[in-house]
Amino acid sequence: MRIGDILKGKKAKGYFSLWLFIIKNKKGKNATSQDDMGTFRLSSKIYSRFVEVKPMEIIVQKFGGTSLATKEKMEMAAKKVIDAKKEGYDVVVVVSAMGRKGAPYATDTLLNLIQEANQNASPREVDLLLHCGEIISSVVFSQILTSKGYESLALTGAQAGIITDKSFSEARILKIKPDKIKKHLKEGRIVVVTGFQGATEDGELTTLGRGGSDTTATALGVALDAKYVEIFTDVDGIKTADPRIVDNAKTLETVTYSEICQLAHQGAKVIHPRAVEIAMQKDIPIKIRSTFSDTPGTLVTNCRENGQTVDIFAYRIITGITHMGDLSQIRINMHEQKDSSKMQLNILKTIAASKISIDFINISPQEIVFTVAGKNTTKVESILSEMNIKANITRGCAMVSIVGVNMMGVPGVMADSVEALVEKDIQILQTADSYTTVWYLVKEQDIEKAIIALHNKFELGN
Ligand code: ADP
Ligand code: MG
Repeated sequence: MRIGDILKGKKAKGYFSLWLFIIKNKKGKNATSQDDMGTFRLSSKIYSRFVEVKPMEIIVQKFGGTSLATKEKMEMAAKKVIDAKKEGYDVVVVVSAMGRKGAPYATDTLLNLIQEANQNASPREVDLLLHCGEIISSVVFSQILTSKGYESLALTGAQAGIITDKSFSEARILKIKPDKIKKHLKEGRIVVVTGFQGATEDGELTTLGRGGSDTTATALGVALDAKYVEIFTDVDGIKTADPRIVDNAKTLETVTYSEICQLAHQGAKVIHPRAVEIAMQKDIPIKIRSTFSDTPGTLVTNCRENGQTVDIFAYRIITGITHMGDLSQIRINMHEQKDSSKMQLNILKTIAASKISIDFINISPQEIVFTVAGKNTTKVESILSEMNIKANITRGCAMVSIVGVNMMGVPGVMADSVEALVEKDIQILQTADSYTTVWYLVKEQDIEKAIIALHNKFELGN
């Protein structure tokens, strides 16, 4: 740790007074004065003998594509980093590719590029190309910081020590060797890491799937034992529903890991659920904030303060309404099949063997019903027809979920929600519930109406 770094830190203020105190009291004995740098170094030696020099606290800040879409937005993002540095933190930044669909260096643009060259490009080559998006944004961002007098460098996932398995396009982080990041932090640099990527043990470049930059950020937070991880985005926190659909959605001040995990799994794409699960392992707090305002955003914690459980959510029965689109409902009538239980099992096993995940499964002696992602519908249709099974398929469905970890045993949630949908003439295709979530499958054309109706019914808005 350099004395210059210590002097920039908040804690350093205390250390600095102590240092001056030591100098004053040692005057004469060690002939210390503040007149020249040699004396300064000598004093810092004395200082470190008396004071245990603590490493500075690390924070991780992640910026999504929308926060980096233009030079002006990057400037606003850079200000967040510099503010944190001025507060005395060592800062690791994680960046996504710049902009969304249509932007020149966005992930979707790169995907189009390779698909135009070859519809069936190998996942290895796709991942290799996709690396470029984050590499561009990390280098540009680190150079903006450096040009402002804050020395910074960019590291790819591989250079940052992120080791993944070999599942191209959906790789999982196996471990992180953060030595290089730590070395640069120690030397006073801001480290900008490319989000959404890593490398296998044998050096093949992989990507972590959609939302992967969130995962990079929290995984680095865990590996570096960060004080907290900030996810900067284009909304000012986690809201009671997607603000693109519900105008009066309210920003939640605090949520628990399990609440946000449920919201994210059910489609609130403000943060990737895997990222939350990783942070939760080590109780690393996550702050979800806007790049473009100074509002505090949403704090994700375990509801604990100084080891004490704080019962701040007991009053909240429902946390929010989420949705997921592009689903197909498959309904198979068992009256038409012989030996229905065996057949039901057979259907599930055959679909699983082709690596298609199914959801919303209801089995009864009369029928088996489930949903698949829209993109898998044709494949499931042909699997079933090969098995000589007639299925009733409804394409263009969507799922709306009511999430609330305190709703177990609260009477009326189901009745109220059905009422909200019926009042708006929304046809319910299927329902399911667990102790934290109630799901409704509806037609995609009804989804916005359904979200707004449920949000209003439970009075979640501002
Ligand atoms: P980034 O590019 O920063 O990763 P994302 O598009 O992945 O941004 O996530 C931010 C978006 O998540 C917001 O623009 C918002 O429309 C959407 N979103 C969906 N559900 C919610 C929710 N419950 N609270 C906040 N944002 C939500
Ligand atoms: Mg995102």
